[in-house]
Amino acid sequence: MSKQHLVQWLDDHKDQFVDMAKKIWETPEIAFNENFASQEQQSLLEANGFSIITNVGDLPTAFVAEFGTGHPIIGILGEYDALPGLSQTVGVVKEEVHTNGPGHGCGHNLLGTAGVAAVIALKNHFEADPIVGTIRYYGCPAEEVLSGKTFMARAGAFNDLDCALSWHPGTANMVSNFRTSALTSVEFFFTGRTAHAATAHLGRSALDAVELMNIGANYLREHVIDGTRIHYTITNGGIAPNIVPDKASTWYFLRGANRVQVDALFERVIKIAKGAALMTETEVSFEIKAGAYDFNVNDTLNQLMFKQREDVGPLQFTKKDHAFAEALVQTLDPTSRENSQRMLALLGIHENTLLPTEFISYKTLGGSIGGSSDLGDVSWITPVGQVGTTCSAVGIPLHTWQATASFGSPIGFKGMIHAAKIIALSAYELLVDGKEVLEQAKAEFLQSTKGNAYIPAIPSDTKAPVLV
Ligand SMILES: [Zn+2]
Ligand SMILES: [Zn+2]
Repeated sequence: MSKQHLVQWLDDHKDQFVDMAKKIWETPEIAFNENFASQEQQSLLEANGFSIITNVGDLPTAFVAEFGTGHPIIGILGEYDALPGLSQTVGVVKEEVHTNGPGHGCGHNLLGTAGVAAVIALKNHFEADPIVGTIRYYGCPAEEVLSGKTFMARAGAFNDLDCALSWHPGTANMVSNFRTSALTSVEFFFTGRTAHAATAHLGRSALDAVELMNIGANYLREHVIDGTRIHYTITNGGIAPNIVPDKASTWYFLRGANRVQVDALFERVIKIAKGAALMTETEVSFEIKAGAYDFNVNDTLNQLMFKQREDVGPLQFTKKDHAFAEALVQTLDPTSRENSQRMLALLGIHENTLLPTEFISYKTLGGSIGGSSDLGDVSWITPVGQVGTTCSAVGIPLHTWQATASFGSPIGFKGMIHAAKIIALSAYELLVDGKEVLEQAKAEFLQSTKGNAYIPAIPSDTKAPVLV
């Protein structure tokens, strides 16, 4: 009866949360600049009687909202940053709202709002029927640069949690039983000596060093563990061809199956950078921008979240939703649709529907995807359960204009309320009758982390690139 009350409450009150997700979608803000989204969520939570801690981890747009007392402490994780260059109307042709503006192509307008909806529903319920325990909503900025939660984790924000729950907008209803890659984001800076290019023998080119470093890294590819990924861009290649560049820089993403592998890879890449500096008589330094852990799957919590679908029921989409999905999918070539499905191990699933309403059957082991998330960091501090729900059509890849359109449409909003229900019911069960599940989740966590303490992959003095 109580679970049904929560589901009903979320149905009855969904308009205010759809309105919030819509407003955040209409005001897209990139990593560390999410002032509007953070304020919107804080205001509603405060109005609903939550106590708020701001500036968590020295991030002006990070906050924690809490109600209740004592253990268990259940964390619900939200995000709200947008992506640069993905501005798009809620339409089926590519049409920017603002030229080169940001857009919610990863659906974080929905991600955070579902968490807010879930905790407000829970508070409403437990006020009438009090229990011992704490519900916390974490407003986490800057997921798209893989570091908001890392800075919050470094400050100890997740340390006293008994577990955390999260979700991500997707193209299916499923538990996230796959690992993500660990990652180090690092920029290398070379300093040489400028000279007129016609007397280049007098100069020492920082750009030469960057190019030699990148060549060295490309040769390294053959000698790394399978699943390792090395990506780079040149962030500064000099000013003009007739000036030997005295400053040049290159920015790397290093990925691997886990933290240990990425740390070892990083050591080798540092040697390559030093070699390039030696060859060109330049100096090199580097700055670590982000360091995310791989996602440590917790089967116990995933099973708990999966189970809630029985009380929540299937998603429902209208003919209009289907027509919108169909038209959007037509704008994608079949290869990118197929690759999008393959990336999430969904190939061959949902071949006859564009908007899945039921959950995909439970798989305990889903392998690994190449991408990374700072959710990985939290999953090495406390057990984390995660699901995805249908917020866009099958085959639409994240980080595309089609995804931005979907996440601002009724399809996205329906998927968001569905996720809010799954999260609210899971947290309810943990608070009311979750002792055994929590013990099991913790035992599984200890086994998977082998008892190793979480050590942030960013140095203790690294500051987030926030505007002050
Ligand atoms: Zn993303
Ligand atoms: Zn995302």
